[in-house]
Amino acid sequence: MHPLRYLWAAVALVALVVATDLINVLSDQEIVDLALLSQPERLEPEGEFLAPFLIERVPGTEGNRQVQRFILDKARELGWFVETDSFTQDTPIGSIDFTNIIVTKHPQAPVRLVLAAHFDSKLFDNDVFIGATDSAVPCALLFDLAFSLDTFLDQYPDPYLTVQLVFFDGEESFRDGGYADFIWGSKHLAAYWEQPPLFGRAGNTTLTRPPLQRIDLMVLLDLIGAPNPSFQDYFGNTSGYFQALAGLEQRLNRLFLVSTHRSFFNTKTKFRGSILDDHVPFIQRNVPVLHLIPHPFPAVWHKPSDNADALDMLVIHDVAVLMRIFVASYLRAHPAPKPSSRAMSPRLV
Ligand SMILES: [Zn+2]
Repeated sequence: MHPLRYLWAAVALVALVVATDLINVLSDQEIVDLALLSQPERLEPEGEFLAPFLIERVPGTEGNRQVQRFILDKARELGWFVETDSFTQDTPIGSIDFTNIIVTKHPQAPVRLVLAAHFDSKLFDNDVFIGATDSAVPCALLFDLAFSLDTFLDQYPDPYLTVQLVFFDGEESFRDGGYADFIWGSKHLAAYWEQPPLFGRAGNTTLTRPPLQRIDLMVLLDLIGAPNPSFQDYFGNTSGYFQALAGLEQRLNRLFLVSTHRSFFNTKTKFRGSILDDHVPFIQRNVPVLHLIPHPFPAVWHKPSDNADALDMLVIHDVAVLMRIFVASYLRAHPAPKPSSRAMSPRLV
């Protein structure tokens, strides 16, 4: 057998173990209890989590700053630790201020499960573009996840692994100028997180490592909220998590806890091709990424019709429940290591 085949066989085996672990770690009763935490009205267009994002929010504009204030206020209401990564860059439309916002449940936990989405909207000179799926709904889903799971996270016995939300600014290009005019926020944050923290503890512990090395997995949500999404298996090294999501979706279906009864996941074929999004600067630095973006993109993609009318509330509700169960399973399936090994290295999945 060609050596590469051994490698792929090993990757597939690890993926299978990960998927089985995650799918079965919670009992039916625990899944029911977590699903019952849903408050669907918060994710409706007039709802607490979604409405504030449904405005134009182009980087450097008042709308963008208003959304930043909302994210900061909500994060403080949660009681989670808030950081910002602000910077100014020359863009095709002039000098623009950007701000990424990072919200962490237990900042002292050495390892993070990162859940990310972009909060900016694309500039159109002659149209109003709200970007309901791109990415207002994904941002609202991050808050729904954090608020609904906060008590579960408090009960999690050892905060070795914590949940971290990342709201990226500047995902959209201003003038479609290729990679140079795109994903401004994630390019900056990935480079910034390559540096060790300024005020880390002395010694070689996980806490003094660059934040990039403390990411166990990054889940990037984008273009979610339109009817009939089809999520694809984009990356071999996180295929196990993709399969786990599909398996958890089946469990939710069997328990009558989702409404659409049609799988959102294409588990039959691997995706060929590439999508330029906020994960790219992290993939380039070897961070494992699960990309939760449908392909094909929603029909309203980058059209003025990507507004509240384009949304399917049942899809949004089902994705919210599924993400909640996935994150809870992820934390439960990754018990804290023994104290002797804790200081040195994050686990391999
Ligand atoms: Zn977009």
